[in-house]
Amino acid sequence: MDLAPCAADPARSRGRRHTEPPPALRTEFQRDRDRIVHSAAFRRLEYKTQVFVNHEGDLFRTRLTHSLEVAQIARSVARTLRLNEDLCETISLAHDLGHTPFGHAGQDALNECMKAYGGFEHNLQSLRVVDELEDKYAQFRGLNLCFETREGILKHCSLANARTLGEVGLRFIERSQPSLEAQIANLADEIAYNNHDIDDGLRAGLLQIEQLREVPLFARHHDTARATYGRIGPKQERHETIRAIINTLVLDLIAHSRSRIDAAAPTHIDDVRRQSQPLIAYSAEIGAANRELKTFLRDNLYLHHRVYRVMTKARKVVRELFAALFEDARLMPPEFFAQSQQREGQHGETGRARAVADYIAGMTDRYALDEHERLFDPRRLR
Ligand code: MG
Repeated sequence: MDLAPCAADPARSRGRRHTEPPPALRTEFQRDRDRIVHSAAFRRLEYKTQVFVNHEGDLFRTRLTHSLEVAQIARSVARTLRLNEDLCETISLAHDLGHTPFGHAGQDALNECMKAYGGFEHNLQSLRVVDELEDKYAQFRGLNLCFETREGILKHCSLANARTLGEVGLRFIERSQPSLEAQIANLADEIAYNNHDIDDGLRAGLLQIEQLREVPLFARHHDTARATYGRIGPKQERHETIRAIINTLVLDLIAHSRSRIDAAAPTHIDDVRRQSQPLIAYSAEIGAANRELKTFLRDNLYLHHRVYRVMTKARKVVRELFAALFEDARLMPPEFFAQSQQREGQHGETGRARAVADYIAGMTDRYALDEHERLFDPRRLR
């Protein structure tokens, strides 16, 4: 299929930090995707919390299945708009690689611990994972990914951090845009989590259908599902409603983005980057409906008493791990201790703090709980 002229083109990539011969059978973006799938950080997503801590049930989303859902939605949108599907998939699969254990609670706690040492941002950490922390290639550190993939992974970034990142940080300083593929992956992330969190929330019994019907977007599609299918089971009714909401969001996103792209008429990816606003966007009406859904989920699911209790405990685990390991970096496995000594030699305490944050951010939920128990439970001495 012919790609739109403003699509990301692997043959005209801005390239990799370490120059490599071109791949024989794949495009540059396909090679990036394959490196991500083969990374240790990608495998660990299986045991990292999305909303529900991993051991709460086998049927809930984890960061891994979330990332796969994001990739599916992003690819559909990209294909329809004649943009680069491979790049969308690559960014989607990588976007959460830097997430800490225990979801946002873990990241907030780590950010707090790192306050005096430059903070902790999970987007920036995803970039650190692919640029530095994956360490199994003979000729370079990290996965040595293309600029376009790295640009897409770095969704947000503080100005202070952007200044330290070179080319990939520039757009936060210049206030320019990333590729359309990066913009799509960003919104596909939100479509995926809003909808699968409704699904998981209902199945966990934390949300009720009647309560969700306060959200007009949900009520409208729930009514349609009932009218179309009559008496069906609750599982089917839930799924038919959620699938219709995803469909509405995706179709609106495609139609509205298409008209914005047509109006701006970019003929090169750099024309996309020069826009003052993203070209991938919802219509005003669906954008507002989507925000209502997000607010509902924040108030009723993410701050739900049961989620809140678990997450408060998770924050405590992260804080205590950080305090102990920062105080005595030798408690970390030898290779992490060596890293911390090296970084401390270069950047003092800030270097040591960063090494501890890298170690904690790389943990899965269960590893963090185990490590916490190993460090603090006196019974483990026996
Ligand atoms: Mg995500």
